[in-house]
Amino acid sequence: MKNKIAIMGAMPEEIAPILQRLGSYTTIEYANNKYYEANYNGVDLVIAYSKIGKVFSALTAATMIEHFGAQKLLFSGVAGAISDQLKVGDLIVATKLAQHDLDISAFGHPYGYVPEGSVYVQADTTMIQLANEVASEMGKTLQEGVIATGDQFVANEERKNWIGSTFAADALEMEGASVAVVCDALKVPFFILRAISDAADMDASFSFDEFLETSALESAEFVMKMVDKIVD
Ligand code: SAH
Repeated sequence: MKNKIAIMGAMPEEIAPILQRLGSYTTIEYANNKYYEANYNGVDLVIAYSKIGKVFSALTAATMIEHFGAQKLLFSGVAGAISDQLKVGDLIVATKLAQHDLDISAFGHPYGYVPEGSVYVQADTTMIQLANEVASEMGKTLQEGVIATGDQFVANEERKNWIGSTFAADALEMEGASVAVVCDALKVPFFILRAISDAADMDASFSFDEFLETSALESAEFVMKMVDKIVD
């Protein structure tokens, strides 16, 4: 069976290295966004950046699956570190993801939980295994961990520590868990990779601006190696 693979990011900088590597692609406008289609070593790819946050990323992931027919989804982007094992430029792959800003705790529910949902969504273990193979071939360190997602840029030590302890999270960002919910519901294996751009502390916005491009490139290169491996 021929695979169609979706590669998404949240911001232009996150997919630019991928489009650049492909060189030629077709641009399709759909649902207020641009989607790029290309054939890469015999496999069809659909690529897009969603715009920032949970709603836009859920829309893009769902569109890539339902409208463009993607059967696997790989997310490439940057994140803020919670774990002090993660430094700028380091790669983290999500084992599971949670929405840190989903809060109906007033009703006695745990943070990140709504009825008929679950706090965590598990990522596909086959792709994580593949990622570990890719990492060792590239001689790179890949950390596995929990990623927490919410509609806020976290630049505050207190909030970061709360997210870290409440969700046992190692990194935080603004799209992963929403993409995970969509892929899980539609039974599409997904892979969320992030390169660290900042430490989600008071210097986060400066660090982010300084390292967005290099960290996004780090993540994108890894994701393309993943695609090479899947195509193989
Ligand atoms: N510089 C942008 C805003 C970036 S928002 C602008 O001005 O338009 C941060 C983006 O990077 C999100 O897509 C999120 O997924 C990721 N990210 C990196 N560090 C983060 C942090 N500390 N908190 C939340 N998201 C972070």
